[in-house]
Amino acid sequence: MTVCELIARLVAFETVSRNSNLALIDFIRDYLDGFGIRSSLVTNEAGNKANLYATIGPLAPGGVVLSGHTDVVPVDGQPWSSEPFTVVEREGRLYGRGACDMKSFCAIVLALAPEMGKLQKPIHLAFSYDEEIGCQGAPSLIRALLENVPRPTAVIVGEPTKMQLVTAHKGITALKTSVIGHEAHSSQTHRGVSAVMTSARLITFLDDLARRRQEVRPRNPGFEPDFTTVHVGVIRGGTAVNIISRHCEFVWDIRNIPGDEPQDLLAQFQTFCRQKVEPAMRAIAPETGIQTEIFASAPALRHEPDSVAARLVKTLLGNEAIYKVPYAAEAGQFQEAGLSAVICGPGSIDQAHQPDEYITLQQVEAGMQFIRRLIAYLSGGS
Ligand SMILES: [Zn+2]
Repeated sequence: MTVCELIARLVAFETVSRNSNLALIDFIRDYLDGFGIRSSLVTNEAGNKANLYATIGPLAPGGVVLSGHTDVVPVDGQPWSSEPFTVVEREGRLYGRGACDMKSFCAIVLALAPEMGKLQKPIHLAFSYDEEIGCQGAPSLIRALLENVPRPTAVIVGEPTKMQLVTAHKGITALKTSVIGHEAHSSQTHRGVSAVMTSARLITFLDDLARRRQEVRPRNPGFEPDFTTVHVGVIRGGTAVNIISRHCEFVWDIRNIPGDEPQDLLAQFQTFCRQKVEPAMRAIAPETGIQTEIFASAPALRHEPDSVAARLVKTLLGNEAIYKVPYAAEAGQFQEAGLSAVICGPGSIDQAHQPDEYITLQQVEAGMQFIRRLIAYLSGGS
């Protein structure tokens, strides 16, 4: 199968994170089977999603992990010019959900599997689920990999970087805060506790917290923006203009630069809730309160410009340039597990998550060349 056929096949599986990815995983397993490559699955608790890993070449230490995620973000409400899960080629671009982020990388690696017959050190494929909802699949994949294969020396995460070397990314902590208030007629504000008004106060606190992070020095140069961000993305609450609201919830995230601990910000928020807000709420109605839970988190990738993985990718690319990215990825999780990890993959993050997401054929070709150089390198060639 050509790489473009493989991209089309992978995109055709509607692996939006809320759906099962098992049909796609089965396809990859059968495909690899066809070349005599055995894969292992690590399923989630519900049994409807799986990570896949496979070793190509000798089962020896010193291999390289090629990491990609199999899920994609939703297309709901986006104005697409063509059917999102059918790859369409126009003017040197392949359009489709996941074409850029990041099924083309997976397709490139799979397309080149038949050329990996002379490896002296292994290539480990590591394809995860639920990356787009907070890198939730990777931890069990990384554990299984480390338990079952000889220790790899480097991990390349193929997120879209236009084939540039990325040596640092931010972390993410995604949270949900629920406020329980006490209902009353809106003319009697002293008798109720408004969950909506309380949420507004909490969000203003977070906004102030976010502004203060911008003042922190020294900055972490190379990130855009070069400070930790706090952002509220969704808020829901209340029932009518004349009812003091019983319930309101909002979801928010902290995207921290390496070394800036998200727990510190969360602790400041919790202290504000416990000391400044809840006592006044409970003085009116004891059942009221504020609950905050973390529903997804992934660590930042610490900047290690001369790590084993960074040096390998510099050699393969033939240049020394390094970049940092503000989005979260799985590289920080591999690094946390003690592996040297970087990001380098085809396509531009500017096209990811967009309607009419695309990858250029030129980027697909650049990705193919990069993996071919890796194969040559691990086969003892140049
Ligand atoms: Zn991605």
